Amino acid sequence: MQLTIKKADKFKPVPDSSALSFGTIFTDHMFNMDYSPEKGWHNPRIEPYMPIMMEPSTMVLHYGQAIFEGLKAYRTDNGSIQLFRPKDNFKRLNHSCRLLCIPEVDEKFILDSLKQLIAIEKKWVPDAPGTSLYIRPTIIAMDPFLGVRASHTYRLFIILSPVGAYYSAGFNPVKILVTKDHVRAVRGGLGEAKTPANYAASLYAGEVAHKQGYTQVLWLDGVEQKYIEEVGSMNIFFVVNDEIITPALNGSILSGITRDSVIALSGSWGINALERRISIDEVMDAHFSGKLKEVFGSGTAAVISPVGELKYGDKIIAVSDGQVGPIANKLFKALTDIQYGKEKDTMGWIEQVITS
Ligand SMILES: *Cc1c(COP(=O)(O)O)cnc(C)c1O
Repeated sequence: MQLTIKKADKFKPVPDSSALSFGTIFTDHMFNMDYSPEKGWHNPRIEPYMPIMMEPSTMVLHYGQAIFEGLKAYRTDNGSIQLFRPKDNFKRLNHSCRLLCIPEVDEKFILDSLKQLIAIEKKWVPDAPGTSLYIRPTIIAMDPFLGVRASHTYRLFIILSPVGAYYSAGFNPVKILVTKDHVRAVRGGLGEAKTPANYAASLYAGEVAHKQGYTQVLWLDGVEQKYIEEVGSMNIFFVVNDEIITPALNGSILSGITRDSVIALSGSWGINALERRISIDEVMDAHFSGKLKEVFGSGTAAVISPVGELKYGDKIIAVSDGQVGPIANKLFKALTDIQYGKEKDTMGWIEQVITS
């Protein structure tokens, strides 16, 4: 397949990198590629960022057959641009493809195309501390058809968005509501796919949480509503005594790349990170017996998100006295130091896009 490149003839102003928020600004170009049963994936192209023309009957709008990924490009102090574990994102994209009956993509080709797109957009990779270029690969079902089946045609696109430091007001613990009234995913469903359906399923409980002053929802398993799954767009970790515990991948939890990195890093420091079933009762008991030291989430957007408060039923607990715990702090620093090239990458996680 030959990648074609059509440059924009008008360019948007690049925003000041110290005044960025999340997901509001998009760069001048995007990557597009189409799928049809006759041609397979074809016509890969980098072209100006533009709206997608589609019929109102387009299947993705009616049946939600769509998947996405999220990763970031980082500018290092010496001006080079690098990606963090991008191969894992495209591997997971193909896993989501299989679960949503979408034809798989050539992972290496997409990564090479992404690197070319970032090279064209290099002036959009911000350089203020904690900022990055967020990358959103997406695949949507394109058949103009009403009726439930997998689509025959698809569009894959990648858009880029310069984003600010997640913790502009400092590394702040979040408040989380544990819900028993709603479920997001069940085993055998789509919880293991990165798909808009999981987010649609999360909105109602999210509104309930916001009304009570909580930032996010901690989901329990969809069968017994006892075991911990994950938080909104993050996986979750509990530090109990000197062990780190995270729910095992059971088919209804997303296999986070930050999650995997946390497990690998803490292991390399000699801290036991256990992947196992953990119930909300066990967490509450650990708190009341003084063993629960820290709770934190992991995900590409925030990297590590310390949890300062958990509400479950009529119980509200302050974790680490509402402060950031030492393990969350150490993981955040270690991960961001690797991502921004301040520390040597001994794990083989970094892929260079542009070397200075
Ligand atoms: C993307 C996502 C995560 C975090 O995955 P990372 O690869 O660490 O960014 C966790 N949970 C859900 C539901 C997600 O969509």
